Amino acid sequence: MAKLFDSFQRGIDYLRISVTDRCNLRCIYCMSSEGVPLIPHGDLLSYEEICAVVRAAGALGIMKVRLTGGEPLVRSELPILIRMLSQIEGIDDISLSTNGTLLKKYALELKQAGLKRVNVSLDTLKAGRFRHITRLGELADVLDGIEAAIGADLCPVKINMVVMRRINDDEVLDFASMTCKEGWHVRFIELMPFTDVTEFVPSSEVRQRIELIRALEPCWPKTGNGPAKYFRLPGATGTIGFISPMTEPFCSSCNRIRLTSCGRLCSCLLSYDGIDLKEPLRSNASIQEIKQLIVEAVASKPEHHHLTDAAVLVKRKMYQIGG
Ligand code: SAM
Ligand code: SF4
Repeated sequence: MAKLFDSFQRGIDYLRISVTDRCNLRCIYCMSSEGVPLIPHGDLLSYEEICAVVRAAGALGIMKVRLTGGEPLVRSELPILIRMLSQIEGIDDISLSTNGTLLKKYALELKQAGLKRVNVSLDTLKAGRFRHITRLGELADVLDGIEAAIGADLCPVKINMVVMRRINDDEVLDFASMTCKEGWHVRFIELMPFTDVTEFVPSSEVRQRIELIRALEPCWPKTGNGPAKYFRLPGATGTIGFISPMTEPFCSSCNRIRLTSCGRLCSCLLSYDGIDLKEPLRSNASIQEIKQLIVEAVASKPEHHHLTDAAVLVKRKMYQIGG
């Protein structure tokens, strides 16, 4: 039960933490081909500083933490952070969003450190196309990573596919069939306008394409903790989810706040500034003071984002704010 509420009576119990802006891939919908401006290492929150924020958040009733980025597994010694977080009172769910390229190496260590589950981004099952979308990666590494995550029981492993017209939308049925063949939990995500890739496909169309072949059965509960709506192909062990930030914004049930790698606490994916926690942390602020700043950030949470109003590119990217 959430203890922290924003001005619109939404309970806030979930903190997403970006541990780095950097990434070993350059997905066309997320980053430019040059990658990201290098943030001096000293500007990143240290693991101790991240834990200080999580301790204060835990005391306010935040129970779930997700590590993201950038690519979280490029930050050195990530399992150490997970172990530190898993010892914080009140935190009962630690998860990770990753591109999966380094999962084979780290899956077991992450599990042993206290990680519960992972979401892996994968937009194609074709090696050449994978290279086009990510600009740098190898599909085989991600497939190995998914296998390693399942093997290490980082379950449920969810596979997130951003659907783009004429880029990968012809693979929707292939991904859907992986829920039967491999028991994957696949989530189709609507493209958001963070770069000049704008080949958006609405979730309703993705669903229609699947249902032309076979009807989807709703899963119960239809909606989990997050924004996805879940279904199942008859007889499949895996599920199919739809995440529709553009056509069905989930702001009215949003339960999350986000900590950037430089220590800004943002109350919305599209808040540009957030509240600075780094300076107070480095001036030895007490846990009470950090709690007060978290309460202020939550109070400033907007009623909804303006993604669909804007015909312009969103200036702060997913890799900066912790997608
Ligand atoms: N590097 C990790 C990964 O790729 O999973 C974590 C960070 S990434 C920014 C988090 C999620 O944001 C990924 O699932 C990615 O597909 C999604 N994402 C990035 N840019 C997006 C966009 N323009 N539209 C929709 N989803 C996007
Ligand atoms: Fe990196 Fe994830 Fe962005 Fe792709 S979506 S460039 S893997 S941060």
